[in-house]
Parts: sequence; structure tokens; C-alpha cells
Amino acid sequence: MKITNNRLVSERASEIVIQESTTNKGGEITPNFIIIHFTAGRGAESSVAWFKDPMAKASAHLVIGRDGKIYQLVDFNLKAWHAGVSRWTDTSGLNGNSIGIELDNPGRLTKVGDKYLSWFKKEYPKENVIEATHKHEKTPTYWYEYTEAQIESCFEVCKLLLQKYNIQDILGHDDIAPYRKNDPGPIFPMESFRSKLLGREDDTTDIYQVTTDNVNIRRGPNTEFDSYGQLNKGMKVEFIKSENGWSFVYVLEQPSNGLEPTYGWVKGTLLSKI
Ligand SMILES: [Zn+2]
Repeated sequence: MKITNNRLVSERASEIVIQESTTNKGGEITPNFIIIHFTAGRGAESSVAWFKDPMAKASAHLVIGRDGKIYQLVDFNLKAWHAGVSRWTDTSGLNGNSIGIELDNPGRLTKVGDKYLSWFKKEYPKENVIEATHKHEKTPTYWYEYTEAQIESCFEVCKLLLQKYNIQDILGHDDIAPYRKNDPGPIFPMESFRSKLLGREDDTTDIYQVTTDNVNIRRGPNTEFDSYGQLNKGMKVEFIKSENGWSFVYVLEQPSNGLEPTYGWVKGTLLSKI
């Protein structure tokens, strides 16, 4: 495959790329991130049809089927509507600078008796169901596995996008909208994608725990900045960077006060490494 004029072009018979079009899109963007999603849908074709429907008010640059087939709906230099309300470090509204890739997958399954059902009540074969804990949750639930063909297509596309655009990171929808979204879920090999594609073999995440109750999480690295939430003892955060004794962290649990400070600054002395 290659990218020509912001579109994927297949170069071999085994690579199937289908160009589609949708009016669910915006103006020009400069993509800096790749956001991985699952469709939570019935199949790649029905998801493509949905993203072409003006009623959906949603789209993605690509949909990848379970057979590895790739559907492109939006040129990579135009805005697709996949991220919604979202934030990553100091950027909010990721539609404005990211490429959205949707993998055909029904999403979280529910076990009813000995059956595994999607939210739209379709049954999925037990041998393809994986029990795994989402990184924002505490107990395992059921997920339908991605296929090898699908993961391989996704990997090839990411590799090309990294060559063509100034991509800084590959993220999940659940990274940029953590309390609202759970896709692509625990069964997507995000760590392996990031280490193979971004060369971050040593990029192990540093998880810290808050050591006392009512710890303010602030908009900047000192007490003059507003506090927009409080964290309690034992809550987990992911360390991103530090400045003058303050740590910029990613909050891994929803604060009990109902606020949603996904990111913020916490005094370094109130955190201990797990
Ligand atoms: Zn999503």
C-alpha cells in the first residue's frame, strides 16, 4: 500500500482498499495523532453505511473489517468526526489533529447463561471471546477478539501514516475520552503497536498512588493555579512529566467528587510510586 493525495492506494492483490465518501467531515487538518477505535457495530459494511449517513454525524478516516479489508471514508488531511469531546495533554478536541481508525468489533460482550452477547443482542462464539480487565476498570469483562488480518492491516496503515505525516503518538479513544469511551479496549495490542511503530521499547508507564485524601489537581504546576478536582488516598495516576516539584499526571480513576480532571498537576510529594 501507499498513500497518494491523502488516500490509501493498494499495490498488491492481497491489499484491499475501498474508497468511499461521506459528507460527515470537516475542513483541513494537520494530523499529529492516530486514534484507534472499535465500531461497536454489526459488521464493517454496516459501520461504513452508518458513517455515510448524515444522521450519524459521525465518521472515521478508515474502517477495517475482520477480513483485513480497508474502507476509506475521509481523506487523511480532512477532519473526520470520530473523537468527540476529548483531550490529550494540552490539546482538546482531537478531531482537529488526528486520524481515526475504526476496527469492526461489537465491543464489550455480556455473558448471559453460557452465551456471550453484544449490546445489540447478537451471540458471539465462545472461542473468540477474551476475558480481560479494561485499564480504567477493576474487574474483568468479556471482549470479542480482533482478527490477525485486521490487526495486520491496521499495523500496515499506521506504519504508512507515520512515514507520511508528523504523527507524535498512537492512542485509543479510551485514552482521549477515558470516562466516556472504552474502545479499542484491553484486547487491542496498543503497547506492541506503540513500541514497534514509535520505537518506545523502554516506554514503561509509571503509575503512582495518591498518598493522602483531598489532594488538589490543578491546571498548572503551583498553588496559584485553579484546583479542578480532588483525589483521594490510594487513587492511581499515570506520571507524564514533572516541573518544579509538581507532577503532570493522567488520572486513571474517576474522582469521587464527580469532576473529570483527566489531566492535571499534583504536588509531587503527595504521590508515591507503585
Ligand atoms: Zn471510538
